[in-house]
This record gives sequence, structure tokens and C-alpha cells, in this order.
Amino acid sequence: MLRCGSQLMFIMRCLCYMPKTAVPLWEQQWPKIVAMRKREIAPVDTMGADALAKRGVADSKQFRFQTLIATMLSPQTRDEQTTLAFENLKAIVHPSSLTPHALCSIPLEKVEAAIKPVSFYTTKARNIVRASQRCVSSYDGDIPSSIDDLLEFDGVGPKIAYLTFTIAWGKTLGICVDTHVHRIANRLGWVDTWKSKSNGPEKTRVALEQVLPRDKWEEVNGLIVGFGQTICSAKSPKCSECTLTESCKYYQSGGTM
Ligand code: SF4
Repeated sequence: MLRCGSQLMFIMRCLCYMPKTAVPLWEQQWPKIVAMRKREIAPVDTMGADALAKRGVADSKQFRFQTLIATMLSPQTRDEQTTLAFENLKAIVHPSSLTPHALCSIPLEKVEAAIKPVSFYTTKARNIVRASQRCVSSYDGDIPSSIDDLLEFDGVGPKIAYLTFTIAWGKTLGICVDTHVHRIANRLGWVDTWKSKSNGPEKTRVALEQVLPRDKWEEVNGLIVGFGQTICSAKSPKCSECTLTESCKYYQSGGTM
């Protein structure tokens, strides 16, 4: 219990001089990115893996499989090309649905031809056919419910696995870091992994998971990918339209990183 006014004054003075906790950089910048994302619809909003996965699904198993196919098609490919390849795949299994059983019965050359719009289509075709066979033989036509099992599929690395898990199973076990997230998280100063000689995106994922609270992990990929597609592109970021110039490490350094 306080006995006199001077004690109370002393405590109040101490409280005034206590250092205020600095707001982390990402937390200052996040609402501005959300506001900029509302200005324009990005390709990821209508053609991202979650949008493709919902197209013409009959049941939740097919939804999960379509999620896996969309994420396996997407690396290093524009969303428009991924969508085209995805629709071509659906067309070659027609009138069946895009299921692992249906894809297993299609010759590899036909799968290759269907997904030719995406980069590395021959490798992706082989991996997709193998994934379909594995889903049929080991998972009753479903995708694995364990991320470690999914990571054993050919062509499935952490980026594909975490995104697939978030969409297909509604479980966000890690952040999906693609080229946009890797670049922009470094430009904004959230992480410092740009100069890593190898496996940069994976190093960004590990660092970003230390920086961002868990309840942001699911949202960050779509938010930042769309920001990269509409404003902060790799070659010509539209800094004159961006509200982050005062705190952006890349802008403040004159475009070097
Ligand atoms: S200021 Fe330029 S580089 Fe920085 S986030 Fe904005 S668009 Fe990207």
C-alpha cells in the first residue's frame, strides 16, 4: 500500500521514463501492404492454388488432390500459365474428374503436352504422374495427411508442402516462401537472407517464422505474392505508388540489396 504522495509521484515518474517497446518493422508495414493490396486484384487472388483447387470439385478428396496438382504446377511459372496447364489437365481426363485415379490412366506424353505452358513441364509431368500413383497406392486416392509423407513426394519441397497443407487440410505448419516472399521480406527488412549463396527461400522461411507471429503465417503468402505481382515486382518495383518508401530498406538504400 502507498503511504504518501511522494511515493506515488516516484512510481509515476518511473513509468514515464520506462522505454516504450518498439513496434516491429513488419507490424508497422503490414497494414500499409493490406491497404495497397485492396487497390487492385492480383493474379494470385483469382488464379492462385486455392482458387484452382476449388474449380469443379466433387468432394473434399478431389479438392485436396487438385490443391496438390496446382501447387506442383506453379513453381517458377506465372499464375496465368499455371491456370492454363491446370485446365488442360482437366480437359484430358474429361469426362472424369481430376483425380489421382484418372491421371494414372493418362500416358505421360499426354500429361506433358497438357502442361506444356508451365516451366520444366517434363519434370513436373513425371512428378505429377508419380504423385498420382502414390496417392492411389498408399493414400486411398487422397493426399498424405502428414507433411513429412508429403515431403517425400518427388518435386515437393517445403514451399509446395506448406502451401498444400494450408489449403488442403487447413493446417498452416510453416510459411510458404516463394520468389516474391523471399524478395520482398528482404527488401522490407523483415529478414536478411538475400545474399545467401544457396537455398535462400528456405533460409527466408526459417527466419520469417521467427519474425512473424503464428497467426500471420497463413496470410503472408497471398498478401505478399499479390503485392509483388501488382507493385513490388522484381525488375521494376513501382516505388512511386508505394506507401512504404520511408521504411523500405531497399528503397532507402537506393535500390541495392
Ligand atoms: S518502396 Fe519500392 S521496393 Fe520498397 S516495398 Fe515499396 S515498391 Fe517495393
